Amino acid sequence: MRLTIKIGSNVLTRKDGSLDITRMSALVDQIAELRNEGHEIILVSSGAVASGRSELKHITSDLDSVDKRQLFSAVGQAKLINHYFDLFRDYGINVGQVLTTKENFSDSEHRKNQENCIRVMLENEVIPIVNENDTVSITELMFTDNDELSGLIAQMTQSQTLIILSNIDGIYNGDPADKNNHVIRTIEPGKDISDYIQTTKSSAGRGGMQSKSSVAQKTAKAGINVIIANGKRENILTDLMNNRENTLCTEFLC
Ligand code: GLU
Repeated sequence: MRLTIKIGSNVLTRKDGSLDITRMSALVDQIAELRNEGHEIILVSSGAVASGRSELKHITSDLDSVDKRQLFSAVGQAKLINHYFDLFRDYGINVGQVLTTKENFSDSEHRKNQENCIRVMLENEVIPIVNENDTVSITELMFTDNDELSGLIAQMTQSQTLIILSNIDGIYNGDPADKNNHVIRTIEPGKDISDYIQTTKSSAGRGGMQSKSSVAQKTAKAGINVIIANGKRENILTDLMNNRENTLCTEFLC
């Protein structure tokens, strides 16, 4: 099966904002296992800005938010991809970096080039690790967040399934902090879930549940199964693929 897996910044960062290499390594172990089982993987990974920010603690000058985003992502993306490269190399798996912008999905020449690049990587068993090119994507040129990007990549690559990993178990039927509420396991196509979606969002990444569920519904409409699950849970990816009935997640049926 062809799978697009999106890993959010909150999955990859510790409470103090530093990159959680242990978590990253555990996810790479599972991706390697899924590859052995015959799945083809495209990874969409956030975490550039967050890991750059934790690397450049000494920055004291008065940078505006655009400067900061450019600076942090330039440093953080290098750090992120280096870790992935080394972790996957331990399994003898080749990976490559695909940095993209919104323009690459609208301009037809760019779109074709990008599609071709990912196709040739997959044909040569190289895992594409995709992120937005945060160094040049500014304000209106930006994707809403990497959830949006992962939906577009899943469609472009004709993935059968998109897994969105965040730091929450799925979509709850109310406030997740309320013990009486539970994760909705499946969502039928076209179901109105706006009442369930919490508008608050966590710190590290740009996305939130609202954006995840809207991307999930759009992507499911395009014929791709979408799963939202907690990337901080042990063995989440292998459990989702091999024991989904007993694994906490929200699945958007298509
Ligand atoms: N591209 C951003 C990063 O790597 C993440 C965007 C998002 O949080 O969705 O830091």
